[in-house]
Amino acid sequence: MRLFLFALPALLAACHPKTAPGSVVTAETNAAGPKNPYYSRTDTATLHISEAEWKKVLPDSIYEVSREKDTERAFTGKYWNYTGIGTYYCAACGNALFRSDSKFASECGWPSFFETLRPNSVSYIEDHSYNMERVEVLCGRCGGHLGHLFDDGPPPTGKRYCMNSIVLEFEPDVASLK
Ligand SMILES: [Zn+2]
Repeated sequence: MRLFLFALPALLAACHPKTAPGSVVTAETNAAGPKNPYYSRTDTATLHISEAEWKKVLPDSIYEVSREKDTERAFTGKYWNYTGIGTYYCAACGNALFRSDSKFASECGWPSFFETLRPNSVSYIEDHSYNMERVEVLCGRCGGHLGHLFDDGPPPTGKRYCMNSIVLEFEPDVASLK
Protein backbone atom coordinates (compact mmCIF):
# COMPACT_ATOMS: atom_id res chain seq x y z
CA MET A 1 0.00 0.00 0.00
CA ARG A 2 2.81 2.42 0.77
CA LEU A 3 4.31 1.90 -2.64
CA PHE A 4 0.93 2.46 -4.24
CA LEU A 5 0.47 5.71 -2.36
CA PHE A 6 3.95 6.82 -3.26
CA ALA A 7 3.14 6.30 -6.93
CA LEU A 8 0.13 8.58 -6.84
CA PRO A 9 1.21 11.83 -5.17
CA ALA A 10 -0.50 14.04 -7.77
CA LEU A 11 -3.81 12.27 -7.42
CA LEU A 12 -3.66 12.45 -3.65
CA ALA A 13 -2.71 16.10 -3.67
CA ALA A 14 -5.74 16.85 -5.82
CA CYS A 15 -8.01 15.27 -3.27
CA HIS A 16 -6.55 16.24 0.07
CA PRO A 17 -3.14 17.88 0.18
CA LYS A 18 -2.52 17.46 3.89
CA THR A 19 -1.05 13.99 3.94
CA ALA A 20 2.39 14.63 5.41
CA PRO A 21 3.41 12.41 8.34
CA GLY A 22 2.55 13.96 11.67
CA SER A 23 -0.43 15.87 10.35
CA VAL A 24 -2.67 12.98 9.48
CA VAL A 25 -5.32 11.13 11.39
CA THR A 26 -5.55 7.39 11.18
CA ALA A 27 -8.99 5.84 11.29
CA GLU A 28 -9.82 4.33 14.65
CA THR A 29 -13.32 4.24 15.95
CA ASN A 30 -16.25 6.21 14.65
CA ALA A 31 -18.20 5.98 17.86
CA ALA A 32 -19.39 9.36 19.06
CA GLY A 33 -18.29 8.46 22.55
CA PRO A 34 -20.27 8.12 25.77
CA LYS A 35 -19.43 11.67 26.87
CA ASN A 36 -21.23 13.33 23.95
CA PRO A 37 -24.66 14.67 25.05
CA TYR A 38 -25.19 16.51 21.75
CA TYR A 39 -25.33 13.39 19.62
CA SER A 40 -28.81 12.72 18.21
CA ARG A 41 -30.17 10.96 15.15
CA THR A 42 -33.57 12.69 15.47
CA ASP A 43 -32.83 16.29 16.58
CA THR A 44 -31.95 18.36 13.51
CA ALA A 45 -31.71 21.73 15.31
CA THR A 46 -28.44 23.52 14.60
CA LEU A 47 -25.88 23.15 17.37
CA HIS A 48 -23.88 26.06 18.75
CA ILE A 49 -21.20 24.44 20.87
CA SER A 50 -17.89 25.98 21.88
CA GLU A 51 -14.68 24.42 20.63
CA ALA A 52 -13.68 23.79 24.24
CA GLU A 53 -16.87 21.82 24.77
CA TRP A 54 -16.33 19.79 21.60
CA LYS A 55 -12.83 19.05 22.82
CA LYS A 56 -14.34 17.62 26.00
CA VAL A 57 -17.05 15.46 24.44
CA LEU A 58 -15.46 14.11 21.24
CA PRO A 59 -12.84 11.37 20.96
CA ASP A 60 -9.52 12.93 19.87
CA SER A 61 -9.56 11.20 16.49
CA ILE A 62 -12.96 12.67 15.58
CA TYR A 63 -12.16 16.07 17.11
CA GLU A 64 -9.02 16.47 15.01
CA VAL A 65 -10.95 16.10 11.74
CA SER A 66 -14.34 17.54 12.72
CA ARG A 67 -13.14 20.63 14.58
CA GLU A 68 -9.50 21.07 13.48
CA LYS A 69 -10.17 20.17 9.83
CA ASP A 70 -7.46 17.54 9.72
CA THR A 71 -7.56 14.86 6.99
CA GLU A 72 -7.24 11.14 7.46
CA ARG A 73 -4.63 9.31 5.39
CA ALA A 74 -5.95 8.07 2.03
CA PHE A 75 -7.00 4.43 1.81
CA THR A 76 -6.97 4.05 5.60
CA GLY A 77 -10.50 5.09 6.58
CA LYS A 78 -13.02 2.35 7.23
CA TYR A 79 -15.45 3.48 4.52
CA TRP A 80 -13.39 4.44 1.46
CA ASN A 81 -14.24 1.14 -0.29
CA TYR A 82 -17.19 0.12 1.87
CA THR A 83 -20.35 -1.01 0.05
CA GLY A 84 -22.88 -1.67 2.83
CA ILE A 85 -26.53 -0.67 2.32
CA GLY A 86 -27.64 1.97 4.77
CA THR A 87 -27.17 5.54 5.99
CA TYR A 88 -24.08 7.57 6.87
CA TYR A 89 -24.37 9.92 9.85
CA CYS A 90 -22.09 12.61 11.25
CA ALA A 91 -19.92 10.88 13.85
CA ALA A 92 -19.78 14.07 15.94
CA CYS A 93 -23.51 14.84 16.20
CA GLY A 94 -25.60 12.06 14.58
CA ASN A 95 -26.93 14.17 11.68
CA ALA A 96 -28.00 12.05 8.67
CA LEU A 97 -25.68 12.92 5.76
CA PHE A 98 -25.66 10.38 2.94
CA ARG A 99 -27.41 7.26 1.70
CA SER A 100 -25.33 4.35 0.49
CA ASP A 101 -27.00 4.50 -2.94
CA SER A 102 -25.32 7.87 -3.54
CA LYS A 103 -21.88 6.40 -2.76
CA PHE A 104 -19.64 5.49 -5.66
CA ALA A 105 -16.29 3.79 -6.13
CA SER A 106 -13.75 6.60 -6.20
CA GLU A 107 -10.03 6.01 -6.58
CA CYS A 108 -9.06 8.91 -4.33
CA GLY A 109 -8.97 6.79 -1.15
CA TRP A 110 -11.78 8.54 0.71
CA PRO A 111 -15.49 7.68 0.79
CA SER A 112 -17.17 9.56 -2.05
CA PHE A 113 -20.81 10.43 -2.69
CA PHE A 114 -22.58 12.23 -5.55
CA GLU A 115 -25.35 13.77 -3.43
CA THR A 116 -26.36 14.39 0.17
CA LEU A 117 -29.36 12.80 1.89
CA ARG A 118 -31.13 16.17 2.29
CA PRO A 119 -30.21 19.54 0.77
CA ASN A 120 -29.49 20.90 4.26
CA SER A 121 -27.63 17.82 5.48
CA VAL A 122 -24.44 19.78 4.89
CA SER A 123 -23.33 23.38 4.41
CA TYR A 124 -20.52 24.79 2.32
CA ILE A 125 -17.77 27.39 2.66
CA GLU A 126 -14.98 28.46 0.33
CA ASP A 127 -11.62 27.04 1.34
CA HIS A 128 -8.54 28.93 0.14
CA SER A 129 -5.98 26.93 2.12
CA TYR A 130 -2.89 25.46 0.47
CA ASN A 131 -3.23 27.98 -2.38
CA MET A 132 -6.17 26.00 -3.70
CA GLU A 133 -9.73 27.05 -4.44
CA ARG A 134 -11.90 24.37 -2.93
CA VAL A 135 -15.35 24.03 -1.41
CA GLU A 136 -15.29 22.73 2.13
CA VAL A 137 -18.22 20.57 3.23
CA LEU A 138 -19.48 20.98 6.81
CA CYS A 139 -22.10 19.06 8.74
CA GLY A 140 -25.40 20.98 8.52
CA ARG A 141 -26.14 20.44 12.20
CA CYS A 142 -22.85 20.75 14.11
CA GLY A 143 -20.74 22.63 11.55
CA GLY A 144 -18.04 19.99 11.79
CA HIS A 145 -15.59 19.52 8.92
CA LEU A 146 -16.47 16.53 6.73
CA GLY A 147 -14.31 16.97 3.63
CA HIS A 148 -14.49 18.76 0.29
CA LEU A 149 -16.76 18.98 -2.74
CA PHE A 150 -15.40 18.53 -6.27
CA ASP A 151 -16.98 18.74 -9.73
CA ASP A 152 -15.58 15.47 -11.06
CA GLY A 153 -18.26 13.11 -9.76
CA PRO A 154 -20.52 10.78 -11.76
CA PRO A 155 -24.06 11.44 -13.06
CA PRO A 156 -26.64 12.52 -12.19
CA THR A 157 -25.04 15.38 -10.22
CA GLY A 158 -21.44 15.38 -11.44
CA LYS A 159 -20.44 16.13 -7.84
CA ARG A 160 -17.96 14.29 -5.65
CA TYR A 161 -18.37 14.71 -1.91
CA CYS A 162 -14.91 13.56 -0.78
CA MET A 163 -15.36 12.74 2.90
CA ASN A 164 -13.26 11.56 5.83
CA SER A 165 -14.36 8.15 7.13
CA ILE A 166 -13.52 9.09 10.69
CA VAL A 167 -16.29 11.71 10.85
CA LEU A 168 -18.86 9.36 9.30
CA GLU A 169 -20.82 6.69 11.10
CA PHE A 170 -22.58 4.01 9.07
CA GLU A 171 -25.84 2.40 10.10
CA PRO A 172 -27.00 -0.55 7.95
CA ASP A 173 -30.62 -0.83 6.84
CA VAL A 174 -32.38 -3.50 8.84
CA ALA A 175 -33.61 -5.11 5.61
CA SER A 176 -30.05 -5.41 4.33
CA LEU A 177 -29.09 -7.55 7.32
CA LYS A 178 -31.75 -10.23 6.75
ZN1 LIG B 1 -22.47 16.91 12.74
